[in-house]
Order: sequence, then C-alpha cells, then structure tokens
Amino acid sequence: MVHPIHRTHLPFEYLTAEEHYSICIRKSLLAIQEADRLNITNSKHRAWFFDIFANYYFSFYIHTSMCLYALENLADEEQKRQFLPLAQSFRLIATYAQTELGHGTDIRRLETEAVFDRTTDSFILNTPTVTSTKFWPGSLGRTVNYVLLMAQLYTPNRDHPCGLQMFLVQIRDLKTHEPLPG
Ligand SMILES: Cc1cc2nc3c(=O)[nH]c(=O)nc-3n(C[C@H](O)[C@H](O)[C@H](O)COP(=O)(O)OP(=O)(O)OC[C@H]3O[C@@H](n4cnc5c(N)ncnc54)[C@H](O)[C@@H]3O)c2cc1C
Repeated sequence: MVHPIHRTHLPFEYLTAEEHYSICIRKSLLAIQEADRLNITNSKHRAWFFDIFANYYFSFYIHTSMCLYALENLADEEQKRQFLPLAQSFRLIATYAQTELGHGTDIRRLETEAVFDRTTDSFILNTPTVTSTKFWPGSLGRTVNYVLLMAQLYTPNRDHPCGLQMFLVQIRDLKTHEPLPG
C-alpha cells in the first residue's frame, strides 16, 4: 500500500528545486518516524527501509549509509558515548568530505591538513590550496550539521606525517542550523 504522503505532490519532474527539497525532507522525516513506529532497529534494515519509503530520495542517505557505520566502527568508546546517540536520533546528521577539487580517487594526494596544536590540545584543520577545497560532499549545502572530514595528519612541528585520518567536524549550530564560523 502506498503511504498517503506519496500522493501529496506532482511527479518530481514538475517540481521546483525548493518543492523537491521540501518533499524529500518531509518523506525522510516520516521514514524515520515509521521505522521507529515499526520498531525496525537493525541499522542495515533501517537504511533499507528509509530508502524504500522515500523512493530512494532519502535526504540523510550518506549519514545512514556511511557516517553511522564510520562512527560505530572507528570511534573510541568515549566518542561513541558522546556522538552515537545523537547520530542515531538524527540530531547529528553528517556527510562525508573526502574528495577535493584537485583530488578524487587518489586519496594519498589529498591536501587538507590536520596539525596537532599542543597549546590548545586540539587539531587545526586547514585547506591550504585551491586544489584542496572540499568538493562533492552530498547534503552539505543545506541538510547536514557535521562532516566526516578526511585530512592528512601532521605532528605539531610538521616533521612527521601520520597519514590520512578521519575527523568529525561540526559545521552548523545544532539548534539554529546556522553555519558555524571557520
Ligand atoms: C553523485 C556523486 C556523489 C558524490 N558524493 C561524494 C561525497 O559525499 N563525499 C565525497 O568526498 N566525495 C563524493 N563524490 C566523489 C567521488 O566519491 C569520487 O571521489 C570522485 O568522484 C573521484 O574523483 P574524480 O572524479 O576526480 O576521479 P579521479 O580521482 O580523477 O579518477 C579518475 C580515474 O582514475 C583512476 N585513478 C585515480 N587515482 C588512481 C590511482 N592512484 N591508481 C589507479 N587508478 C587511479 C580512477 O579509478 C578513475 O577511473 C561523489 C561523486 C559523485 C559522482
């Protein structure tokens, strides 16, 4: 049986970009509500359900198909405690930022840098060149509030490259959805 929401709009070809975005978000939110109502708890089954319910226009596809798995498998226990409940309940919605203007598949050449700063006990992330500008992250323009960012990690003196690492970076305010500075 077709859910009534699928009868509330014209075929996508007849919608403006704004209408298209709005209906996809509505269907995606409803898909999450329905999965909860039907008690679908397995991550893989939930991801399938979301896609099918939203006719493969699930707005948080990269979040459920990549970012949730990355958090589940790559985060340490403290990070999981802090971020997984937010991510599973879609208060934290992430996309994946690997590709750069100058670098796609050949990820060893990615130029985005993460340098550990001893004074602040944090990582300084930087895209130092035009070719290192992040490019292609799905849902970045309006939908997500975090990115999983691929960057080359360096020690504080930059004398020791530590290879590609993944950073969970907040880019929008969780309440207002306004972009954060920086
Ligand atoms: C619809 C869509 C959505 C996307 N969403 C995202 C996203 O959310 N986040 C994100 O980060 N990226 C995203 N991408 C980017 C995508 O995942 C690839 O990283 C990117 O398209 C590949 O870069 P490129 O096109 O410059 O190809 P290139 O990297 O230039 O590759 C071109 C060809 O060279 C080959 N090649 C490249 N390097 C090597 C090598 N070292 N050895 C052998 N062969 C090599 C490749 O296999 C390919 O055949 C998206 C792309 C598309 C099309």
